[in-house]
Amino acid sequence: MNRIRQWLWRYRGRVAAGFVCLAIVDVATLFVPLVLADAIDRLTAGNANLIRSGLFIVGLAVVAFVFRFFWRLFLIGTSRRIERDLRAKLYDHLLALPASFYNETKTGDLMAHATNDIEAVTFACGFGLITILDPLVMIPFSIGVMLSIDVRMTAYAVLPLPILTFVMLGFGRVIHKRFEFVQAAFSATMEKVRENVSGVAVLKAFVQEAGSERDFARTNQTLADRNMSLVRVHGLFHALIELLAGATLALTLWIGGGSVIRNAVSLGDFVAFSQYLSMLIWPMIALGDAVNIFQRGRASLGRIGVLLAVPPEIAEPESPRAMAGTRIEVRRLTFRYPAAAGTPPALRDIDLTLEEGTTLGVVGMTGSGKSTLAHLIPRIFDPPPGTVRVGGVDVRDASLSELRKTIGFVPQDAFLFSATIAENIAFGRPDAPRAEIERAAQLAGIHDEIVAFSDGYETRVGERGISLSGGQKQRVAIARALLLQPQIVVFDDPLSAVDAEREEFILANLREFFRGRTSILIAHRLSAVRNAD
Ligand code: ADP
Ligand code: MG
Repeated sequence: MNRIRQWLWRYRGRVAAGFVCLAIVDVATLFVPLVLADAIDRLTAGNANLIRSGLFIVGLAVVAFVFRFFWRLFLIGTSRRIERDLRAKLYDHLLALPASFYNETKTGDLMAHATNDIEAVTFACGFGLITILDPLVMIPFSIGVMLSIDVRMTAYAVLPLPILTFVMLGFGRVIHKRFEFVQAAFSATMEKVRENVSGVAVLKAFVQEAGSERDFARTNQTLADRNMSLVRVHGLFHALIELLAGATLALTLWIGGGSVIRNAVSLGDFVAFSQYLSMLIWPMIALGDAVNIFQRGRASLGRIGVLLAVPPEIAEPESPRAMAGTRIEVRRLTFRYPAAAGTPPALRDIDLTLEEGTTLGVVGMTGSGKSTLAHLIPRIFDPPPGTVRVGGVDVRDASLSELRKTIGFVPQDAFLFSATIAENIAFGRPDAPRAEIERAAQLAGIHDEIVAFSDGYETRVGERGISLSGGQKQRVAIARALLLQPQIVVFDDPLSAVDAEREEFILANLREFFRGRTSILIAHRLSAVRNAD
């Protein structure tokens, strides 16, 4: 509750305005039975002015109409603003989290957070808030008028209400727990779909559709079962509330009818009384809903909070030290992936010195740790303190953004965004002139293929465009790094999917490019690094 209140507090002005509008609507609505009671009593006495009463009711309806629009605008609008803020905060945080976090976290869980949990919080801040604010006006006003009509009748009518409160509290807890189960099953389902969709080619090639269907059917059934258990408890809850509401009404008719017969209460008052009683039913249900809406919201905010509490472990140091030059030194580096505790280290006791402006060629068997070394220089993963120095500074003490801007990195698995080829190449320098983009593409040996596409550099790649071959992707990734004109170059096996003839051409260009830069070139063939220092 506290955390939800903090989010609401940011928009307290709007919430207050919304509450005022809501209260005006409530009061206007609450006046209607009084007007009606007056009209009925006048009818019984034979001196009714129906036009006056009618106009009064229409006037109240118009007031309610205008302010109902505004409370929605203020209160639901606030919940949408909170939703936006929360989502932005989560996204910023996800970008700040280290690669090791994504190693250990399922994408499906993240998607579930980004959709279900944020939605539950939004709902609590919007509709949930209304289920609290509305009864705040409705209940005292209704009960006040009812008391003024007949104290004994009111006492009987509101008697079942405390029972309702206890029923709500009990159910709220069960609902809360079952909702958590639903969320977990939903995450698992999302993750399964994501994995199978991205691996669909393998799935088909190995004719595993049937197995995958069976597997998915199980996950899907679990989700459905858990949703059903939630539906059952919800159903019972709402039915029970209706039952109690009916019982209350019957009680009123019995007691109140008697009072009317004995002329202790006028017919108009009795009608007003039963109207107030039915008006009380919604706020009572609302209060019950409020319990579980806020429990859901709190649970979801709790899960989002857990995610937000994950430290962006690879963070900017408090007082970063400036790098002097680009000399790279690795001293007694032993590295084990955070997710791989208890296994042999990926790198053991590595020592190397790379003087400024020279090229280091790295060749080795797959799994020997070449990519690991490449990732430690720009701190994609964090090396142990004191083991990796760039420009005389431990990479852990250097400014993270400066370090990464200094390094042109081509990862082993080239990744392209759903954007045009030009945008992909200019990813690190979105304002780069077209001539430079084309120059980088020429050096990377991909220019000719790009201009052969119907849209040339404006060809879209990725989900909404064409797919590039592995070798083409690699060369776009090289062009992207070349365009940055970085002082340090780390290329992780960038030509593994490029044919031998083109490889020679690109290597010759790279040799030019590497001149004067501190470069690490990883390759799986010795021939690729024969020009290294
Ligand atoms: P290379 O690039 O030489 O083929 P890698 O550096 O990719 O080798 O891998 C070295 C070792 O580290 C391998 O045993 C691999 O299983 C392990 N490894 C690589 N990446 C990760 C990771 N993200 N989490 C845990 N272990 C990893
Ligand atoms: Mg590798």
